[in-house]
Amino acid sequence: MTRRSEISERLSDIKKRIETAAKKAGRNPDEISLIVVTKNFPISDIQILAELGVNDFGENRDSDGAVKALAVAGRWHFQGQIQSNKLKSICSWAQVIHSLDELGHFKIIARAATHPLDIFLQLNLDGVRTRGGALIQSLYPIAAAVAADPVHRLAGLMVVAPLALAPEKAFEQLHAIATKFIQDFPQATALSAGMSGDFETAIAFGATHLRIGSQIMGSR
Ligand SMILES: *Cc1c(COP(=O)(O)O)cnc(C)c1O
Repeated sequence: MTRRSEISERLSDIKKRIETAAKKAGRNPDEISLIVVTKNFPISDIQILAELGVNDFGENRDSDGAVKALAVAGRWHFQGQIQSNKLKSICSWAQVIHSLDELGHFKIIARAATHPLDIFLQLNLDGVRTRGGALIQSLYPIAAAVAADPVHRLAGLMVVAPLALAPEKAFEQLHAIATKFIQDFPQATALSAGMSGDFETAIAFGATHLRIGSQIMGSR
């Protein structure tokens, strides 16, 4: 089996599962965006994805994303933990940032960015810092700053389900927090949640942006 047919099969399988999960949740599959997470995979794989019609790619590291985004046109998403000394570069190749969790980082974005960015704020559900994000009370001032900015767009909340929590519990909490958040920031209707192991549950709880890597690309 060629790499192309392998990726192609896995991709159409995931698309079918997204559609099934959306219908089961009474949702329109068209309101759910698939971001293929290409971290640790080579440019040749990303070219295959592009030929198969994928336009949204996710990366965790500035050094990888910068090179890959130059090589393959598309909408590039940064979803890794932010280091302030990398932000200027991230803003040059990414159109979407999923992992903003510090006000100081937004100030750098506002200074450095040369094009408008869609920005998700990464919510931390359990206070364990290793997977990034901040508690909801710390995200409100950041949300206010992004919402007040004339250039950049506050897209919504992003979460990585904590390892110690069942996905149902995690996404149920996320849904409750997001519902309240959207009352305060009505434009922030997107919800970036759901990875290879839990995207169907995330869809049931309102996810609009899925970040899926290994189920499409394989494991490395
Ligand atoms: C790696 C990663 C993903 C994709 O994870 P898979 O389990 O491979 O689908 C999604 N979001 C973030 C933040 C990641 O680091």
